[in-house]
Amino acid sequence: MNNEITVCITFDFDADSVQVRQLEEPGRISKGLFAIRRGIPRILSLLNKHEIKATFFLCGWVAEKYTELTKEIIANQHEIAAHGYLHENFDTLSIYEEKAIIDNTTRILGEFTEKIYGFRAPYFKLSSNTLKLLTEAGYIYDSSLMADDHPYILSFPESRSKMIEFPVEWFLDDWVIFESHQHSPKVALDIWKSQFDNFLEMEDIPPNHRIINYTFHPACIGHAYRINVLDRLISYMKTKNAKFTRMVDVAKSLFTE
Ligand SMILES: [Zn+2]
Repeated sequence: MNNEITVCITFDFDADSVQVRQLEEPGRISKGLFAIRRGIPRILSLLNKHEIKATFFLCGWVAEKYTELTKEIIANQHEIAAHGYLHENFDTLSIYEEKAIIDNTTRILGEFTEKIYGFRAPYFKLSSNTLKLLTEAGYIYDSSLMADDHPYILSFPESRSKMIEFPVEWFLDDWVIFESHQHSPKVALDIWKSQFDNFLEMEDIPPNHRIINYTFHPACIGHAYRINVLDRLISYMKTKNAKFTRMVDVAKSLFTE
């Protein structure tokens, strides 16, 4: 058995964008603010402890409002990628609205780093125009779809362009596990470790495509007992020689295959 495996740890840094867009009351907004006060600092310190680099999907509005934390993410050599401007639901927008949001967010995030390569749709919801607009804006990967369990190519023959898709899954998303279902830390760790272990054994995945990614939210995983689960998951995967990489680095290598 070839036990080569690459892990992309990703964070959707929403902060209070969802609550602000929905004009919610201070109590609901404060749940998003946990990401700012505790979530991001704890995550950065955990990643630092394990000496691994990750990908953070940011709303443009979050980068504008929390400039110092955004700079800190980049100073630690993590990748920042796009996640809408104010956590919009892309499948409810006109193509013009989508284009304006993508262009605006790309410009805002681009002020922090040399280039933005990746996108994840808020709520994992794209419209039929989103991917085309992203390729036109220079994006090389998306991470919102679920058609496979390892990265695949999305081709757009009319524009002769392509993108890499890093598929997501609900059971690999901390919000679903901890907030929607209130699973225990044991169940969360069991699910996430099981997928990793079994993925490693799948003979229908070429060894150089054994790439798995997890979705976390700072306002969720940042809580004490949950960050401990992530710590234990990373430690476990390290014992199996997992290589931890930012999505952009994997996307660039797959693009040239
Ligand atoms: Zn989000």
